[in-house]
This record gives sequence, C-alpha cells and structure tokens, in this order.
Amino acid sequence: EHTPVTVIGLGAMGRALAAAFVAGGHPTTVWNRTPGKAKELVAQGALEAADLTAAIEASPLIVVCVFDEAAVRELLTPVGSSLAGRTVAMLTTFTPKSAVETSAWLAEQQAGYLGGAVMAVPDMIGTPGSQLFYSGPKDLFDTYHKPLELLGVSRHVGEDPGTSALYETALLSGMYAMFAGFQHGAALIGTGGVSATEFAGYAVPFVQAMATMLPLDAEFIDKGDYTTDVQSLEFNRSALEHIVHVSQDQGIGTDVPGLIMELMDRQIRAGHGADSATRMFESIKHPQG
Ligand code: NDP
Repeated sequence: EHTPVTVIGLGAMGRALAAAFVAGGHPTTVWNRTPGKAKELVAQGALEAADLTAAIEASPLIVVCVFDEAAVRELLTPVGSSLAGRTVAMLTTFTPKSAVETSAWLAEQQAGYLGGAVMAVPDMIGTPGSQLFYSGPKDLFDTYHKPLELLGVSRHVGEDPGTSALYETALLSGMYAMFAGFQHGAALIGTGGVSATEFAGYAVPFVQAMATMLPLDAEFIDKGDYTTDVQSLEFNRSALEHIVHVSQDQGIGTDVPGLIMELMDRQIRAGHGADSATRMFESIKHPQG
C-alpha cells in the first residue's frame, strides 16, 4: 500500500527527500550522477539503482531534485521513453516557463508532471515548518498526496504546472529583501561598534512584529485603492530620506534604502504622495519604460 518512490539527485536536498520517504515506509529507489552519495540512505533501507533507467522503472512517482533546469534537461532527454506512465514531481527549482515546457515534453512521453517548490532547507524536510507547493493536474497531486505529505505541509496551488514556481519565487523575493534590510541595519549599527549578533537579538522581534502587518499591505494591494488617513507615502519617504542621510553620515552604502526611496519617489512624482506607502507596489508592478 506504500507507493514506491524514486528520488533522482542526491544533493543536500535530494538526500533529505529520500530519507523522508524511507522513514515513511515507502519503497525508495535512489540514483545520483556521481556514485557514492547513497550509502547512508541504503543503510536506512533505500535501494540504489544501477543506472538512471533502472531508477525510473522502479517507481510510478519520480522525484527529481538536481541543481537546475539545464541539469534536468541533460538528465531526462535521453531516457524519455522510460518515463511513460509515470509521474515526475519536479522539486528542482524551475521557472514557470520551463515548468510548462517540461510538462508538455513529458506529456509527449506519456508521462505526468507535477511542478513542485520546496520552501525549506534540507534539515527541515519532514518537519511541520516545511512547506511545499505543487501545481499541475490535481488528480496527480491527489494520487501521490500521501508520500508527498511526508516532506512537509503540501498544497496544490493550481492546474498550471508553472504556478508552484511562482509561489517559490515570490516567497524568496521577500526573503532576500528582508536579509538585505537586516544587513543594511547591521552595517549601520556596526559603525557604533555594535555586533551584528547583538543587533539580531533586537531585529528578530521587531521584524516579526512588522511581519504581522503584511495582511494590511495586502488589503491595499488587492483593493488597488491606496487612500489612507494615516502614515502617507510622503511621511514614509521622509523616514527613508532620514535613513539615507544617517547612512551617508556614518559612511556606509545607501543602495538598500535608496532603492526603496526611488520606488516611493516614482509614485510621489506621479502625484500620489498622500496615499499609503503601499503604493510603491505600483512602481514594482509597472516597471519604467
Ligand atoms: P546540491 O548542490 O547539494 O546538489 C546538486 C545535485 O544536482 C547533485 O546531486 C548533483 O549531482 C546534481 N546535478 C547537477 N548537475 C547535474 C547534471 N547535469 N546531471 C545530473 N545531476 C546533476 O543542491 P541541493 O540538493 O541543495 O538543491 C537541489 C535543488 O533543490 C535545486 O534546484 C535547489 O534550488 C532546490 N532547493 C534547495 C534548497 C536547499 O536549501 N538546499 C531549498 C529549496 C530548493 P552530482 O553529485 O553528480 O554533482
């Protein structure tokens, strides 16, 4: 009753995925381009396939987790015919466009495709903090929901195979912007001799509190109406200008606050200074000519 699963790619993430399937009691076949990465998994109960074709033929569900899209193409193109009747769950980071193309190519091979996105680091796989998004045919997601759920909280987010990649990219955009903001702050406070470690202690609760305001931001964005009687774009722009000035005075870079100020300025120049600061969303959504 436990669906056999194959995991192709035993990098840091692939090994964590395979270990979760083994722990969940699924017959798990693994394969990696460079041999020698399966030892621990085999000790836990996984089967190491002799070659890629044998790995594919071992299971109806094939989880592919290699470095990037080019690696996937190089890997799967020569073995297309062995994929017939199977489903590929793509847990390699993909663009929405490549997901759609790969899904169409697999359909020609009589194979199914589920786009996937792992929002976790390898150590988190199989814990409640791990989130995964899937897109593509809902019936395929339902068929393999049980093994996929072993990796973390799994959600089907749409029939378009590229949608899960959009979710992944959107969440990562927010993550990188948050880290850049923290690093700017660390550079600034560092000019006063304060360590980044001490700073992190104050930044974590502050950022967590600020994060609870994201739904308010979302309300403005979804309404497309930025009318507000509290803190306006002009008000927030002066806060950004202050950050830029202090950064200059302390001799550090102004790229991070400077970029945000520019996004605000574009809206102010267009006459929207009295609106909510969330209006800078429009500067991002509609790039300049
Ligand atoms: P690693 O660098 O640890 O492993 C890369 C894997 O890809 C190795 O198994 C490598 O095989 C294989 N590979 C690379 N090129 C080829 C190729 N041309 N043909 C066949 N196999 C190839 O990466 P991760 O495991 O960390 O990441 C894998 C995917 O998971 C990536 O797309 C990544 O974006 C995604 N991901 C990773 C996260 C993380 O925190 N690590 C988080 C979320 C997503 P070999 O051993 O032979 O070199």
